[in-house]
Amino acid sequence: VTVPAKPRPDVHDPATEPFWRALREHRVCMQRCDHCGYVRWPAAPRCPECLGLESSWCDLEPRGTVWSHVVYHRAFHPAFENDVPYCLAYVELDDGPRLVGRLHVPAGRAPSVGARVEAAFDEIDSDVTLLAWRLAD
Ligand SMILES: [Zn+2]
Repeated sequence: VTVPAKPRPDVHDPATEPFWRALREHRVCMQRCDHCGYVRWPAAPRCPECLGLESSWCDLEPRGTVWSHVVYHRAFHPAFENDVPYCLAYVELDDGPRLVGRLHVPAGRAPSVGARVEAAFDEIDSDVTLLAWRLAD
């Protein structure tokens, strides 16, 4: 049985290319509004807080807190059948934004809401690095 390929992000989309390029270099980079300072995710042309159009891509602290998490015991896409069980976490970055990513949890440890995490950079291939997380001790 051939396992189908996993979905891939478009790392060359001009709207998000700086985010993906930074992950290749093991940095977490998002847009900060030049007017009000709000850090936003996902990337967008306009600030959702003040509607300002100018923003700068800024490196963020690669650390955060587990806001929620789930462990998948069943693959909902056949490409992930060899990965189960795996954990996804909704992580609140110390700099504000919340986003979903794989949380690598050592065997025998359970994730918990409020746990401190640090970025893990999952290098998928020569183009794609995904932002994942691991528990910070
Ligand atoms: Zn703003």
